[in-house]
Amino acid sequence: MNELIYNIPLHRLPDCQTGRLIVRASEPATLIAALSAEDPTRIVAVQLLSLEADSEPMNAWAPGLPVELTMADPAAEFPSLYRHVNLLDQHPVRVAIPVRSGFTHAVKVALALNFAVRLEPDQPTPALIEELAEVLEFYLHQPTVAQPIEYFQGTLLGFYHQEPVPLWAILDEDPAWLRYIADDGTESLYERLAGVEITVAPEAGLEVWMELVLAAGEECQTCEFRQSCGGYFKWPRRDYDCAGVKRLFGALRDAADELRRDLDSVD
Ligand code: SF4
Repeated sequence: MNELIYNIPLHRLPDCQTGRLIVRASEPATLIAALSAEDPTRIVAVQLLSLEADSEPMNAWAPGLPVELTMADPAAEFPSLYRHVNLLDQHPVRVAIPVRSGFTHAVKVALALNFAVRLEPDQPTPALIEELAEVLEFYLHQPTVAQPIEYFQGTLLGFYHQEPVPLWAILDEDPAWLRYIADDGTESLYERLAGVEITVAPEAGLEVWMELVLAAGEECQTCEFRQSCGGYFKWPRRDYDCAGVKRLFGALRDAADELRRDLDSVD
């Protein structure tokens, strides 16, 4: 059976006695003090909610523990990424970047600083699809890119190995194992699924979630990218027009095919 992972605010730590934890906090020093009494094997990762925070106390703390830096306004906040570079000495660090106007610059700065990137694509507008297409082009063809941009990397590898992985898993939003605890203690599914009733047992797995809930709509059932997407872009608004995101999936599939051909030709 899956052991659920709970994404919790730091002040709810005393309430969460079971499962594994992703702990989100704004103050690194407070986070370290609070987690000192916790079983370290329960802590899967920490999320730093403010790029203005001083992360220096975390540099040598809990080596190997993944850290996610979260952004609310990427176009304005990207200069603050520089102050967190030393975290990379002891931690895998990625930056969660919402796909909002001007996010491209934040992606490029994050990659230049050697941070991994997790895009939060929401349901992108046509203008943001064009910006995503530019970032995809950059990811595919810029030789200096040494860190993954998710969801591009996971989807590309899924196409390449012909074992597609749904975005719910690639973007760490899998409802089969992740729960979100709000500041007031309310438990729900994560992010775009918040408010959706939990009708599937955790042990059922993502494929069952997709079949019964996530990709159950008619368009998803017949979509050529269903196994790579999993119905991700039909949430929260079910009438979202997927033409743009399908174009991006197509570009990733073409890139995977080209990569396979290139590698076959040198065998
Ligand atoms: S691209 Fe759109 S239609 Fe296709 S599986 Fe994803 S959400 Fe469904």
